[in-house]
Amino acid sequence: MYEIGHFIGGERVAGKSGRTADIFNPATGEVQGKVALANADELEAAIANAKEAQPAWAATNPQKRARVLMNFVQLLHRDMDKLAEALSREHGKTLPDARGDVVRGLEVAEYCIGAPQLLKGEFSEGAGPGIDIHSVRQPLGIAAGITPFNFPAMIPMWKFCPAIAAGNAFILKPSERDPSVPMMLAELMIEAGLPAGILNVVNGDKSAVDGILDHEDIQAVGFVGSTPIAEYVYTRGCANGKRVQCFGGAKNHMLIMPDADLDQAVDALVGAGYGAAGERCMAISVAVPVGQETADRLMEKLTPRVENLKIAPYTAGDDADFGPLVTKEAKARVRGYVDKGVEEGAKLVVDGRDFTMQGYEDGYFIGGCLFDNVTKDMTIYKEEIFGPVLSVVRANDYEEALDLAMSHEYGNGVAIYTRDGDAARDFSSRINVGMVGVNVPIPVPLAYYTFGGWKRSGFGDLNQHGPDAFRFYTKTKTITSRWPSGIKDGAEFVIPTMS
Ligand code: NAD
Repeated sequence: MYEIGHFIGGERVAGKSGRTADIFNPATGEVQGKVALANADELEAAIANAKEAQPAWAATNPQKRARVLMNFVQLLHRDMDKLAEALSREHGKTLPDARGDVVRGLEVAEYCIGAPQLLKGEFSEGAGPGIDIHSVRQPLGIAAGITPFNFPAMIPMWKFCPAIAAGNAFILKPSERDPSVPMMLAELMIEAGLPAGILNVVNGDKSAVDGILDHEDIQAVGFVGSTPIAEYVYTRGCANGKRVQCFGGAKNHMLIMPDADLDQAVDALVGAGYGAAGERCMAISVAVPVGQETADRLMEKLTPRVENLKIAPYTAGDDADFGPLVTKEAKARVRGYVDKGVEEGAKLVVDGRDFTMQGYEDGYFIGGCLFDNVTKDMTIYKEEIFGPVLSVVRANDYEEALDLAMSHEYGNGVAIYTRDGDAARDFSSRINVGMVGVNVPIPVPLAYYTFGGWKRSGFGDLNQHGPDAFRFYTKTKTITSRWPSGIKDGAEFVIPTMS
């Protein structure tokens, strides 16, 4: 049993609120630790530390700030195995997948080493007689990030790396399900040379989130999690005058055109549908074969692959396809959806509901499930399941398949499998989804592009990482200057124009 408190003022501190949450080992179902749930005083202490430290950090030149991230990247490589093990132990994902979680965050840290370049402003010489204009990007002050359980390394890094590189202090409120890795990341940032107080981790639940949303010293909030909470955070944060970006749930479709390489498509569907037990916001949860013949051929190849998925605890070695779900509640929720699908008339071709892992009977394991003949009025089609469940919705033609993806309330990711460049081009141009894959099932953009869904998968304007992150975590100041020789003509009473 271990206890996780908070990370305030450059060090771990014990929780004082008297409230804690259990941290489970999803593979065994055992409580392995407790995480403190912050009260208002603890949040206040973190914000006070951040407020005191931030001006000096903002005044540190951007190259020096970037060097902290350079060191951080080295330390992430040094501690990769330790981080991955802690991540798998609390989340349940396989070790190779946990390493991927760390690396996709590390790549954003690498991108942020370019902060001196990314923070450069603009300059116009001679914009008027003797007048120059320049713009600078300045940090906001204190920003906060509220992050989900499913990527406990990657998403915190997507948030704090650009915010800190841009000269802000940061308050991270990670998921209470898997809090160890965010704490380790904060320690590594201090070891990398970050001054105390610039990155604080406040563990907690709704009350810590509400405290962040209502605190006048927090200028910006970035959230990732389920759509109802994303919308809540967006609404409350905006009402309090903050800059807010919130990324929510998903129902990602993959179209399989009649000319697609079906072996490639099936590989893509099993990896993207069942990897990390389907607990990815970019998981493919809906397959849309175009034409009945494509659907029949697809089902023939897909079914045995789903039946033979290899499920194991992370400790069993690196060749498992996925591990358990994160909590007992998550398992009950996923099972409930599968029951509902059967009840509503979908054909359950592979039923993983009764899967048990020998020796791990109390773990939160569930087998891969595959539905055929799902229709758009069914609950399993409309709602995000967030488990290893793939729904096949048969479409008669391309327009019907396109319309299906476009009409869904979520718009995070989407993919098309085809050999026809024209179909792929038409699809990419017309689809109303934020991240599109052409023969790529999980099109998570790399660190130097931006990540963000459309429709009810994203609230706010700017995306995560890439150049947008530096826009989100800074404000622009534009300075118009004229030096003495330019004002010798005396006062002007008419509004100056450049005509
Ligand atoms: P969640 O919404 O339950 O929790 C996310 C965060 O919000 C956590 O830090 C949690 O403590 C906090 N929270 C939970 N309930 C709250 C409440 N009532 N009030 C205020 N704060 C609250 O999400 P989760 O289960 O941790 O993560 C899974 C969800 O995240 C899925 O819906 C998934 O699609 C989504 N997700 C989206 C993206 C994306 O970029 N779009 C990425 C990863 C995960």
